[in-house]
Amino acid sequence: MAKLGRELAAKGVDVISLSLGETDFFTPQHVKQAAKEAIDQNYSYYTPVAGYPELRKAIAAKLKNENGLDYGFDQIVVSTGAKQSLANALMCLINPGDEVIIPTPYWVSYSELVKLAEGESVFIDATIESDFKITPEELEAAITPKSKVFMFSSPNNPTGYVYSYDELAALVKVLEKHPDIFIISDEIYEHINFLDRHVSIAEFESVKDRVIIINGLSKAYAMTGWRLGYSASNKEIAAACDKLQSQITSGTCSITQRAGVAAYEGGLESVREMKEVFLRRRDLVYGLLKDIDGLKVNLPDGAFYFFPDVSSFFGKTTADGQTIANADELALYLLNTSHVAVVSGDAFGDPKSIRISYAAADEKLIEACKRIKAGLSQLNERPVP
Ligand code: PMP
Repeated sequence: MAKLGRELAAKGVDVISLSLGETDFFTPQHVKQAAKEAIDQNYSYYTPVAGYPELRKAIAAKLKNENGLDYGFDQIVVSTGAKQSLANALMCLINPGDEVIIPTPYWVSYSELVKLAEGESVFIDATIESDFKITPEELEAAITPKSKVFMFSSPNNPTGYVYSYDELAALVKVLEKHPDIFIISDEIYEHINFLDRHVSIAEFESVKDRVIIINGLSKAYAMTGWRLGYSASNKEIAAACDKLQSQITSGTCSITQRAGVAAYEGGLESVREMKEVFLRRRDLVYGLLKDIDGLKVNLPDGAFYFFPDVSSFFGKTTADGQTIANADELALYLLNTSHVAVVSGDAFGDPKSIRISYAAADEKLIEACKRIKAGLSQLNERPVP
């Protein structure tokens, strides 16, 4: 959708893109400064595969100070992004035929990475009625003797849900009964969380040794293009990820790593400011989306997305006689008619919904919601004769 939106914009159409999974903020000044200094100080050589020791130590300190978690620096493997850390973990853990339990909706790459690792995804379908969260019973029911990994993100992309301590504790109770299942906990949206605090499933000592935390700089420090992620896990998994990564990418960019040290050691001021802006935008967009007839929308507690159920528009007809059959077609309709780019839920395993990102300026958000409302209200109940 981002590509189609850009193509339309290149033809002179005023497209508002709410399709991308990245913040519209700039990288904090002190982080940029550290990168400039790294260039001048000749940080231009290969780095250790798992990252500079000072960066891994800074990440271990972050996990201790911000999350109350004890990890040695040798349990941290830095990569070229949370995506690579997810890939490392899955490739290391999954043998052909192993099952990976994934609640839907999920971030697009999860199921594709499982395929690459020759595993089988087992989906637990969650709906907007439960804020897209799964129950312990649903988790229990998905477990089979082949289950190897349970993988989820909280705060979540694409739905914005955030698991509370009690909700995670209930899932942990189930996982305690199945000691062979590893838990991949994608915490990349950790800081865009409107609840009291971020809870990591690694806080539960009974499962911590089999948790692989995935995180990175992309969202918290507005550094998607810099490419820095990491995993925190037990030492055996960390060593396996290091070994795998050494054959694929080697250590990530030296300049980025030095910038990463500055980010993790530089305090959370920029992160807090960004969160405040996202909270304000969330409330703004929620008010506007709630006002659109036929759109089923819930209030997300984190990330920067809405994931409304749009199934009430399926079967309706556009002004030129096309019937909207699914979320893909609705997203295309909104792009071509309302000139707003959103993403079909299909890619996230939920064909009833669309994802709307609110990582855009207020006036753009207001205008986009106005256009979406107008576009949807123009759909007709019955095919035009
Ligand atoms: N996990 C989730 C849930 C994401 O939304 C994203 C990015 N959209 C990633 C991982 C990948 O992040 P990175 O840029 O660090 O590879």
